[in-house]
This record gives sequence, structure tokens and C-alpha cells, in this order.
Amino acid sequence: MKVGFQYLTNVSSSTRATDRQRCSNLYATSCATDPDIASREAYSSEMLVDSFGRFHNYLRISLTERCNLRCQYCMPAEGVELTPKSELLSPDEIIRIANLFVTSGVDKIRLTGGEPTIRKDIEDICLHLSGLKGLKTLAMTTNGIVLSKKLPKLKECGLNALNISLDTLVPAKFEFMTRRKGHSKVMESIDASVELGYNPVKVNCVIMRGMNDDEICNFVELTRQKPINVRFIEFMPFDGNVWNVKKLVPYAEMLDKVRQSYKGVERLQDHHTDTAKNFRIDGHVGTISFITSMTEHFCAGCNRLRLLADGNFKVCLFGPSEVSLREPIRAGVNDTGLKEIIGAAVKRKKAKHAGMFDIAKTANRPMIHIGG
Ligand code: SAM
Repeated sequence: MKVGFQYLTNVSSSTRATDRQRCSNLYATSCATDPDIASREAYSSEMLVDSFGRFHNYLRISLTERCNLRCQYCMPAEGVELTPKSELLSPDEIIRIANLFVTSGVDKIRLTGGEPTIRKDIEDICLHLSGLKGLKTLAMTTNGIVLSKKLPKLKECGLNALNISLDTLVPAKFEFMTRRKGHSKVMESIDASVELGYNPVKVNCVIMRGMNDDEICNFVELTRQKPINVRFIEFMPFDGNVWNVKKLVPYAEMLDKVRQSYKGVERLQDHHTDTAKNFRIDGHVGTISFITSMTEHFCAGCNRLRLLADGNFKVCLFGPSEVSLREPIRAGVNDTGLKEIIGAAVKRKKAKHAGMFDIAKTANRPMIHIGG
């Protein structure tokens, strides 16, 4: 059966409106506050539970391998080989797979890439995904270069949570780090997101020693007036990004820097599936967080699965194993068969990642292909 745009246009507008209302009630507090019990009751198959009992209610979908930036830590200097268009998932295939995950218990989808906003059909994709019954959060990670123009429509189409990547507040450094211009456009997009009511707007900031570690407190300063959550991310190794432990600034060191400059830095309660350690600072409207994937992994609470633009399914960001969903779909597999393939891959998920030094030696894909 072909499930896709055609099929989903039949979702009633009242269903969408109710789902959107539920979404907008939720996004202010983030999906992490949704009780697990409700999620568990909602799942209709064991497909999403791995052999360690982790229930995966969060799917990240990479919509494209293309990007309008060339961030040094993400994309190799020589660029990446792009998958031929015929081997990328079609919109119908994306929606069919997403629908299958949502009917099995996924309640949060994040769109990523590459850069998701460069797709011409990004609004349509959001509209169809946000109409999936049971989906509570439709999020996007974007570099913000073209976001401010597209955001009002994207919001109308059901996008209710946003992460915007920004690694420096210095325009010339931005150009060096991303190998492109555009700093002011990203700042505009952050402000536009705040104005449109996204709360919090999450700002992803990958910290690299000698590159932007001198800006940590400048980023913290942004949270004084803006309702944003700045997320300091430890630099992670991926193919082609010349990772080196000397460039990694550990979480403990970043936090120390913040504590030296600010009084009243208070740890907030985390949810067990949180990737971030969250903090508030006295007098600041925004918050800060640390994504400590390298020095204090959070694999025990991992609830995330990944669908890549070429239709490969990945159960761990750092694990090299992938299974194609595109091939069986094009060979005519039905949903039961597809669920078996997905469920078997989920059951093979390891307890935790291999540790940063082994990850650095293991062939994986460049981050630009995986999507963060
Ligand atoms: N183009 C979009 C963007 O820039 O946000 C989405 C894709 S990007 C691969 C997703 C996230 O991964 C970004 O926030 C980026 O900063 C992060 N990222 C990429 N490479 C990374 C690395 N080596 N270590 C840590 N985070 C990384």
C-alpha cells in the first residue's frame, strides 16, 4: 500500500488542529516532561524496545545530505560524496516510514540533515508529519541561514520545537568555522524564533579548544535577556572531521569556566532520557546545558533512533551499523515486514557507545550524512 502525501492529505483538519494544540501545550516544557508511562501505554509494538529495555520514542530524520554551510567539525574539507537522487527516500517513503514509527509509539520527530530548510518541500513535509496522530513534538535542527524567512509558514505547518546551531558570536570566525558567510542571518533567525513564541529556542554550540572555547561566557551572557537554551556540545569524532582529543573541551572544564564568571549556577532536574545536563543562572531568563557525549555518555537513557536521507536506519549515532529500509520498501515489503526489520535492528543496539578513542578509530559516516 502506498502511504504518503496522497494518503495523508486525508487526515482531517480538526485532527491536525487538536494535535497542534496538544503540541503547542507541550513544547513550552519540552517532551521530556511527558510521563514515560503514557508513552509506554501508547506503543503498539515491541519494535521500539531494545534488549536492554530501552523504549525509543524519538526518531530523527535526516532530510538531505546537502547543506548551505561547510562546518569544519561536520563536513570534511573536500566535501562529501552525495547519494544519487534515485537512492534518496522520496517524500512518500519518508512519510510512510514516519507513520509506521508513530503508530508504534514514537511521539517525537526531529528533522535534520544536511540542512533541512534547503528542501523546497520542507513545509509540506512538516504539515504531513505534524498530522500523524500520536506525534507530540515535531522539532528541527537547523543552521538558521534561511530559517527566519521560512519560519512563520513552518510554524503553521506544525513545527513546534527548534534547535539552531551557532558556534561563534564573531562574524569573521563564523566564516572561518563554516567556510561560508551568514552570521547575521543566524542571529536574525534566533530572534525571529523567540518572537514567534518558540520557548526555549535551543542554540547548539559545538565547543572546540583554541577555536571558540574563549566564547563560552559570551554565549552564557546571551541567556541573560533571551529565553534561549544554549547547549554547549562536546566535540565528537566523525569520519573526515579530524577529531583530536586535544580539541575536545570536557564538560567539567566548560562548567568550571562558567562557575568562575557567574554566581548562582544551579543544576536543574534532568529527565532520564535527556542528552543534556541543564543549568539555570540567577537573573537569566534563558538556561544553559552541556551535551557530554564524550566525557559522560548518557547511553543508558537513550531513546533515539535515526533515519538517514538514503533510507538507512541507524540505532546509535556512534555505531557504524546501518540497515536499509529503502531497499525492502522498493522491493514491495508490507508494514509488518518493515516493522520486523526495524525491530531486529533495535534489538541489536548495544548498551553503550564504544568510548571516544574507539569511536575515533571506527569507520562511521561524516556527521553531515547522519544529521546529529
Ligand atoms: N544543518 C543543521 C545544523 O547545522 O544544525 C542540521 C545538521 S547538523 C549535522 C546537526 C547538529 O550536529 C548541529 O547542531 C551541529 O552543531 C552538530 N554537530 C555536527 N558535527 C558535530 C561534531 N563533530 N561534534 C558535535 N556536534 C556536531
